[in-house]
Amino acid sequence: VGYQAKRLPAVTAGLSDDRTAPASSRVPNPRRRLYYASAHWLHRMQVTRARRIKRAEGPSASGLRIFLYHRVTNDHDELAVTPEAFRAQMEMMLRAGATPTALDEALVALEEGAPGQHVCVTFDDGYHDNLDYAIPVLRDLGIPATIFVPTAVIDGAARLYWYDKAPPTLSWTELRQIGREELFTVGAHSRTHPALQKLTDEAAWDEIAGSRRDLEDRLGRSVTSFAYPAGLQGEREIRMVREAGYRVALTCAPGLNAPGQRPHALHRTPVSRRDSPRMFEARLTGLLDHPWGLQAALKLPTRLRPRARPNA
Ligand SMILES: [Zn+2]
Repeated sequence: VGYQAKRLPAVTAGLSDDRTAPASSRVPNPRRRLYYASAHWLHRMQVTRARRIKRAEGPSASGLRIFLYHRVTNDHDELAVTPEAFRAQMEMMLRAGATPTALDEALVALEEGAPGQHVCVTFDDGYHDNLDYAIPVLRDLGIPATIFVPTAVIDGAARLYWYDKAPPTLSWTELRQIGREELFTVGAHSRTHPALQKLTDEAAWDEIAGSRRDLEDRLGRSVTSFAYPAGLQGEREIRMVREAGYRVALTCAPGLNAPGQRPHALHRTPVSRRDSPRMFEARLTGLLDHPWGLQAALKLPTRLRPRARPNA
């Protein structure tokens, strides 16, 4: 409301000592164990029930499914899946007949209303284990992926504040090498990973447009995709992302993207370390696209509901 792109000042250039988002503008802790344990329990019941219904409904609808990962490692972390599970999930995706697609191409397919099930793989936050464990599997299987990084964290100017001791992140040199490979792209995930909706217009614009500029400066290539920190966004953020020149922006609202879905508010399907092969299959086939009310009840980022129910 009242936001005018033209009146906004240029994004800031210099770095202060510590640019970590202050407590008042942080995203909710994404590593809450109790939440994931309860969600897992609820999802398992939902899958069992949905399977019975689904059998009568027939095959799942076509569209674009975007998977959301954070870490791929054997470390015990709510944000991690193991390298073994990750490989098994990628192989299952291929076996199921889904077409692995780069995000930009998937958007074109979506705009053209192309039938079939397109699948994109994305990673948020730029953890170093993406390079160690996920990229070798993706290369091996020929699956494209996008890694979204908060640029001030890669600069070393801000911390991943939901960790006491954050795991290592990718360096600019590594990101440049990754971005040079045809399969992989690097996208923006703000500068400091704040809850964008808690910021002033100027600060939100700085995070959104500034992270694009940081990436283009450091990687030497154009940057077309943005992932909202913790998936949190409102109409102001959607407008800013569009005006900053991004072609696509990703939320954490679960669900398939059907033709007509707004490209700056695409849904993503999160993958959890607790997912059994059966649970991953349920995510792939859409059995968990309309989760029961737990997320809403706990007021978590994923509470953002899809605007239109793609299968309805
Ligand atoms: Zn993130």
